[in-house]
Amino acid sequence: MDIIIVCHTEFGFVQNKEIIFDKNAIDGVKKGVLNLIKLVDKYEAKATFAVMPEVIKNFPRDITHEIGLHIHPGWVKSGIHQGHQWYVGDSYLKKHCNQSVNSTVLRDYSYNDQLELIKTGKDHIEESFGIVPKSFVAGRWSINNETIKALIKSGITHECSAQPHTKLPHYDWSKLPRICMPYHPSKSDYQQKGNLPLLIVPISQMFPTRSVNPEGIPFVGLSWLKACFLEYYKQDLPLFHICLHSPCMTDKYFISAIENYLKFISKYKNVNFKFASEIKEYRRVEPKTKILPYILSLNRRVIGAYSKKTRVKISGEA
Ligand SMILES: [Zn+2]
Repeated sequence: MDIIIVCHTEFGFVQNKEIIFDKNAIDGVKKGVLNLIKLVDKYEAKATFAVMPEVIKNFPRDITHEIGLHIHPGWVKSGIHQGHQWYVGDSYLKKHCNQSVNSTVLRDYSYNDQLELIKTGKDHIEESFGIVPKSFVAGRWSINNETIKALIKSGITHECSAQPHTKLPHYDWSKLPRICMPYHPSKSDYQQKGNLPLLIVPISQMFPTRSVNPEGIPFVGLSWLKACFLEYYKQDLPLFHICLHSPCMTDKYFISAIENYLKFISKYKNVNFKFASEIKEYRRVEPKTKILPYILSLNRRVIGAYSKKTRVKISGEA
């Protein structure tokens, strides 16, 4: 089984186990990237960094992991979250591109606008790192058919924004089954299989829904992410795709949770960590929902909580 870890590289910090995407928090990039590299190197894994153009000046140089492109268009104030408010968008693209609308999602932009945003970002990566990015993640997971066209025109080969079987007002991946392997999209519908020269590499989805992203651990528990890995692994699916944002790698809680997850995954046989751009279309598979790993994980949690309580009681009595 191939495993990819795709890290959206942006500014921010963690407060109460949630990321605040504050543009002044450059450690979200500076330290977050190095901390993730340290961890993936320890487990002989590989990381793909989808880098926002505005963070390039703070991104560590001479890394041995993949650098891809992450585009957040527009410049719009977020709502207030945990007492903080920030701008969604990319200051570098704001300065260097003509954006004819002001929206935080690519699919609201014309083909020409999207092409300019993607090309400008890609050129900036090439000039700064001397490499040609091949992988891409759209800000807020939002793309449309024009995005695919613009990506192909720009030489991007791997699109990693798909959150299968979900739909929000700003994105639509609802036509993909929850467990979805990479596919070449069709020209008329990015959610249908076709023969365009670009591979959509969907993020692995837990049961019943939610991306395999360590930032979800405070809500669902690490055991649920482990169960999802087992659901994929036990039926011999060819790919498991984990995503995360770089600021979470500045926080002890997430660093230790991700380490625990990597340690767990790397124990399994025939697990091959890869860069996103190394992924190719696989043989046809027919994934099925397997509930058992999730039930066992629930069981372990209940038993764990029970034995902890018992231990406390016993030591209290003593
Ligand atoms: Zn992002």
